[in-house]
Amino acid sequence: MNFKIIAIDGPTGVGKSTIARQLAEKLRFLYVDTGAMFRCLAWSWGKKGCPESDELLTELGNQTRIVFEDEFVICDDTDVTQEIRTERISKLASKISRFTLIRKVMKNQQRALVEEVRKSESYPGAVLEGRDIGTVVFPAAEFKFYIDASPEIRAKRRLLQLQEHCEEANYEDILTALRKRDFQDQNREVAPLRPAENAIIVDTGKLNAQQVLEHLLDCVAKEKGVSQPGVQ
Ligand code: C5P
Repeated sequence: MNFKIIAIDGPTGVGKSTIARQLAEKLRFLYVDTGAMFRCLAWSWGKKGCPESDELLTELGNQTRIVFEDEFVICDDTDVTQEIRTERISKLASKISRFTLIRKVMKNQQRALVEEVRKSESYPGAVLEGRDIGTVVFPAAEFKFYIDASPEIRAKRRLLQLQEHCEEANYEDILTALRKRDFQDQNREVAPLRPAENAIIVDTGKLNAQQVLEHLLDCVAKEKGVSQPGVQ
């Protein structure tokens, strides 16, 4: 089988997850939310008091059990689906993701997961979304997208999301936190956030989720002839 990898990178709060999930559904590809993997590690790290020694970080990376079950995220046998989306975990995830050891463990786990699926032929391809998928984890991916939008637009979207989950939120605080996370993601030494070479850059500022999805599906269909199952 000609297994295809679609890498979707971009800054926080840009709507990558929704787009990546829908794209994977349409193409019947495996969907991998690598941000959720970092968030699970952050959750576990927080519980242990955020140790920074190489030994404890390696142990954390290798021993934290992360399982995706439909729309649920299970970490060390606990359902963390909601908790990993809080601002506290967002900040911790951004912090823990700067450690070289942690990035190495995550990269290897993500590659192993895709390799397992490719070998088992359970899916014709995989959509992975994150910060370094096209640049580091799968630089030879068949498709590389970089989804972007201004910090102000992303902050407004995040505010709505938090309100939907009944979390107290303030636009200015969100914007400040988001800019800080952008800065951390873009300026860390290992795997900084940036568009991969040859990535298709999609500015979602003036597009709704449906339009972005259609644009991505068009790009995929045009470039390599991957069609949606059941659609001519
Ligand atoms: O995508 P999401 O906002 O859920 O990711 C949470 C954090 O995990 C990001 O702010 C980023 O610091 C980190 N991350 C990363 N590399 C990835 C995915 C996420 O560094 N591939």
